[in-house]
Amino acid sequence: MNQIADNIIRMREILPEGVTLVAVSKTKPAESIMEAYEAGQRIFGENRVQELISKHPLLPVDIEWHMIGHLQRNKVKYIAGFVSMIQSVDTLRLFETINSEALKAGRKINCLLQFHIAREETKFGLNMDEAIEIIMAWREKKMDNVNICGLMGMATYTDNIDQVREEFRYLRGCFDELRERFFESDESFSYISMGMSGDWEIAVEEGSNIIRIGSNIFGER
Ligand SMILES: *Cc1c(COP(=O)(O)O)cnc(C)c1O
Repeated sequence: MNQIADNIIRMREILPEGVTLVAVSKTKPAESIMEAYEAGQRIFGENRVQELISKHPLLPVDIEWHMIGHLQRNKVKYIAGFVSMIQSVDTLRLFETINSEALKAGRKINCLLQFHIAREETKFGLNMDEAIEIIMAWREKKMDNVNICGLMGMATYTDNIDQVREEFRYLRGCFDELRERFFESDESFSYISMGMSGDWEIAVEEGSNIIRIGSNIFGER
């Protein structure tokens, strides 16, 4: 039987209302993505530009592609024409580049600010002050071709559930604070992307409304 389709259907059955599933298809071939697509999945996440631009032309045009991995500024131009959301904005300069490439492409690109929430050195991401700097610049410079739709974060890769929960709760707190301070009258700031295959249930309990699931759908990488 078709395991990928089964996984998609099962995932949708157990996901609470209002939580968006991003199927993380990195390292998986276009055929696997098609299996998920045929089961009704439309939102897919990739973490490398090269992989995203090679798969994009092979697959249906109504797929919404989310960039979820670290993004170099010189590569934004390759995805600006079609990407549906960039979840991994981690510097002001990257954000400015996304704005100018979106302008050239005649588009407005939805973005999430990626926070550093894990107790690990290796993960990219912003702290509160840096996020505020981006939000202020976005307003002052009137960057009309980017939208700030919320926050994204990755918890520490650990079995310590309490720690993971604490990190998610911290991100939720940052989201609430920023929304109150800057987005009172802007409903597009509404997404908290947190939770992967191993920790999405905790993330949803802590307020996530976008989960990014790879191995639970496509199998181990
Ligand atoms: C790979 C990846 C995921 C999905 O990871 P799984 O554990 O396979 O579900 C989610 N988010 C990001 C940013 C990733 O790079």
